[in-house]
Amino acid sequence: MIPFLDLKAQYASIKDEVDAAVLGVLASAQYVLGEEVAEFEREFAAYCGTKHAVAVNTGTSALHLALIAAGVGPGDEVITVPFTFVATASAVCYVGARPVFVDVEPITLTMAPEKLEAAITPRTKAIVPVHLYGQMADMGEIAAIAARHGIPVIEDACQAHGAEYRGQRAGSIGALGCFSFYPGKNLGACGEGGIAVTDNDDHATMLRILRDWGQEQRYHHVLKGFNYRMDGIQGAILRVKLRHLEDWTNARRAHAARYSHLLKGLVDLVPPVEAPGRRHVYHVYAVRSRDRDSLARTLHSAGIQTGLHYPIPVHLQKAHADLGYQSGDFPAAERAAREVLSLPIYPEMTARQVEQVAASVEQDAYVA
Ligand SMILES: *Cc1c(COP(=O)(O)O)cnc(C)c1O
Repeated sequence: MIPFLDLKAQYASIKDEVDAAVLGVLASAQYVLGEEVAEFEREFAAYCGTKHAVAVNTGTSALHLALIAAGVGPGDEVITVPFTFVATASAVCYVGARPVFVDVEPITLTMAPEKLEAAITPRTKAIVPVHLYGQMADMGEIAAIAARHGIPVIEDACQAHGAEYRGQRAGSIGALGCFSFYPGKNLGACGEGGIAVTDNDDHATMLRILRDWGQEQRYHHVLKGFNYRMDGIQGAILRVKLRHLEDWTNARRAHAARYSHLLKGLVDLVPPVEAPGRRHVYHVYAVRSRDRDSLARTLHSAGIQTGLHYPIPVHLQKAHADLGYQSGDFPAAERAAREVLSLPIYPEMTARQVEQVAASVEQDAYVA
């Protein structure tokens, strides 16, 4: 059996460090925020190349607070993509704003810059590109268009820890960048976690106040805030894991390179593409096939787990029917939703396992 990911294997590889970190927090009794979280914030900001990082309880909370810090509120519009995890759009709805979708590029499946300008209206208050699967959106083009219109960019970097665009790290190009530490992400907590990064001092101050009940000092509530604080134990564990992240990313990239080499030239199978000037961190390795379901069945019968990211684009989800979008509105996103299949990829995977998966994919291609 080849699992889709193996969190037990990751824990086994760093058990002593993680156990010591957890015991340290238990002994210190700094269970919410505290010194470990503060240190993690400094280390993660340095990793991203930003001045500040503000740790919260989930990636969705990071997006929610980033939108408030950027000044987005009821009646505003926020431009994002329909081909993403639903949380991107949910966060926009949390602040009372309306998600306005633009289609993705057919190859990278990230925001199509040439579709962006037409979606901008006087009510547009933020643009939220999603660095899907671990590859950054075309931030050069997107940031230039946003700057021309004076609209802030918030990067949904929840899948893209350490990804780069022309040497700049994910989260460091927009006004704010948001990350998730859900266990299966490239940098994962042992529970929930998230963080927002920024170079802007005022944004950072606001994020710190908002995550902790809107308090400037204890019981002085200057904003209507939230309980979005990170646990001390998660901060300590994330500090340990951050030290391994570059090795893990390099392992993911090596597996992806092997997959792409082995899967080259198969009929009706398109491996993912790393666009020029970008560093893909392969949170997901999604191939595309016109008969994706048959491929999934072949792999499952060979004992190989796969994933679907994502089978229904957000504009066609029942929860967002009120936005009034229809099937056919975003052809590239809808086609991707029908064709993508995520193959197992995680740092602890062996080269032999990558070869086994590739062999099963090849077998399906010949049968088809
Ligand atoms: C995981 C994810 C989120 C949400 O993060 P949580 O920590 O699960 O709240 C948001 N956007 C994208 C693209 C994600 O992959």
